[in-house]
Formats: sequence, structure tokens, C-alpha cells
Amino acid sequence: MAPQPASTPVPSGPILVTGGAGYVGSHAVRMLHRAGVSLAVLDNLSAGHLSAVPKKVPFFKGDLLDADRLDEVFAEIRPRAILHFAARCYVGESVRDPEGYHLVNVEGTQRLLRAARKVEVKEFVFSSTCATYGVPLGLPINEDHPQNPISPYGETKLKVEHMLAAEEKEVGLRFACLRYFNAAGADPSGLHGEDHRPETHLIPLTLQVALGQREQLSVFGTDHDTRDGTCIRDYVHIDDLADAHLRALSLLQSGHESLACNLGTGEGVTVREVIAMARKVSGHPVPSLDTSAREGDPAGLISDGSRAITMLGWVPRRSDLRTLLEDAWRWHRKHPTGYRD
Ligand code: UDP
Repeated sequence: MAPQPASTPVPSGPILVTGGAGYVGSHAVRMLHRAGVSLAVLDNLSAGHLSAVPKKVPFFKGDLLDADRLDEVFAEIRPRAILHFAARCYVGESVRDPEGYHLVNVEGTQRLLRAARKVEVKEFVFSSTCATYGVPLGLPINEDHPQNPISPYGETKLKVEHMLAAEEKEVGLRFACLRYFNAAGADPSGLHGEDHRPETHLIPLTLQVALGQREQLSVFGTDHDTRDGTCIRDYVHIDDLADAHLRALSLLQSGHESLACNLGTGEGVTVREVIAMARKVSGHPVPSLDTSAREGDPAGLISDGSRAITMLGWVPRRSDLRTLLEDAWRWHRKHPTGYRD
């Protein structure tokens, strides 16, 4: 029988959530808010959506690079813990603008940590990524896999992991680096979901084709060394990702040492399998066009999820492909123009 997760523990606040209006961050915010945890959101709204944040959660518009604003917010909230989602997070864009990525992701986090020191924040949960591993030497990938990122995006995330280790040595901050595989899905209510501008991710693009908003989906590469020639990824539902953040923070708050942990299901899905399931779930055709591989795209990325199970007691509940696409489809169908509705 599949392992059953223990119910999600409730961490102690106040918690400051940076990037709490974004795709994954806002989902964690809604989960914490429902659990009655005291929290506040800091977001510059460059990519996030104010309407993704519950109205009763204090919202501070502000930029990680604005040290004065950070001091103001920290003085008001006096957070005990931080969930740090705010970042620029497009691999392709990071190749074109490495300095911009360094500025926001590395320098921005440095300023956040400086502000955190002043009010003695105790715990820090960081949205890291499997992109810190670079090209996998084998699958599945566990946390001991060498970290050799091949994109500026992955490099910035790895630098922050190292910064956190240094911060722990200097001031005792305890941290969890959660290395996401492919975040996907939507709030099961259909009220919240993925809305990136521009959209580059496979699942929302596929569903936009199902909705008739795009003519066809380009399949990037069909001669990879995989079961059908298309890339394999490990898709994780944002509900499961959010749940893992609550678990990681609670674990740190129980006195556990700092940790790094993959967040993936251990199951890989090909691009063609995503398209086939999108057709089934939506009941619409999804025309696709085979094109050449995207530069720097590894053929397969699959997590070895055993550490998340043993350390966090985390078992993904909504990340099977059908549930994930059903949730995503509900959001896209009800909100064809995303948060602009
Ligand atoms: N992909 C694709 N067509 C698209 C977008 C993505 O074939 O229009 C493929 C991409 O090559 C990768 C997978 O879908 O193998 C997931 O891509 P996504 O951009 O969603 O996430 P990534 O794995 O790049 O972080």
C-alpha cells in the first residue's frame, strides 16, 4: 500500500512570505491562512497577482532590493520565520539576462537576510530547484547528486543555498532548501492557478491549446533517449509543494537541523503523455507540432523523493498526472484569461 502522509503540521508565526502573490507562494499563503497561522506577504507584484492573496492577509508591496522597505516591513511584522519564494525563475530568460537574475535572486536574498538578522529571524525556507543539479549523471536524482547548474537561474539558486549555509554559521539561522522539480497544477477550487506572462511552461500551454487560445503545442525534441523520444519531467502539484513548505518549517521549528530536500514524486512523465492526458481531461483536441529540442533541456529529470518522505513525512497527494491536469484544467476553463478576469 502507498505510504499515507501524516496530517500537515501547523507552523508557528509570524511568518513573512516573500513572493506570496506568485504561483507557488500564494498557494502556500492560502494554506497557512486557512490553518490560522499569523502571516504577511511581501511581493513587488512584478509577476504575482494581488487577487491570489486572501484579503485578510496583510500585504506589503515591496522589492527585495529596497533595503529601507525591508527594514520597515520587518519592524512591523517581526517575523519569526521566512518562506522565501520571491525570485525570477525562467531558465531561458536567465541565459539572456544573467546580471538581472543575479541582482534579484542573489543580491535580493542577501538584503533579505540582512533585514532578517536585525529582528533575529529563526527559520528560513527557500524555494530552490532541481536546476541546481545541472545535467543529471543518472536518474532518479537524490540530494547528494553534485550541484553543477548549467543556467544562470540554477547558479543563482545554488548561490543562495551557499549563502544560507554561511548565514547559519554566522548567526545560527536554520534553513531548509526545497529543490522543486516541475511545479504544476492549480488550486482544486478552480479559483487560483498558473498565470505567467509570458507563459512558457508545458502544462498551461497545453491547456491553452485545448481551450483554443493557441493553435498548437510545439513539442521540443522527439529523439531524446526516453520511452517515446520526448522529455521526461517530474511534475509536482502546487498543493503538495505548499504542504511540503509547512512540513519543512514545522520540522525546523521542532529543533531539527538545516536540510536540503528534493520535492518531486519520483515518477517521470513525457511531453506526449502530458498532451494525451490533456486531451482526455479536457475533451478537446490538442494539436501538436514536433520541433527541435530546446537548448539545455535535459532528456529526463526525476527526483528521488525518499528524503522528503522520511524527513518531512511528505507524500504527494494531488501530483498524479490526471488529478494535476484536472485541477489545472478547472482553473484554465473557469479563468481563460487568468487573473485578468
Ligand atoms: N516543452 C515542450 N513544449 C513547450 C514547452 C515545454 O515540449 O512549449 C517541454 C520542455 O522541453 C520540457 C517539458 O516540456 O521537457 C517541461 O518544460 P517546462 O518549460 O514546463 O519546464 P522545465 O522543465 O523547462 O522547467
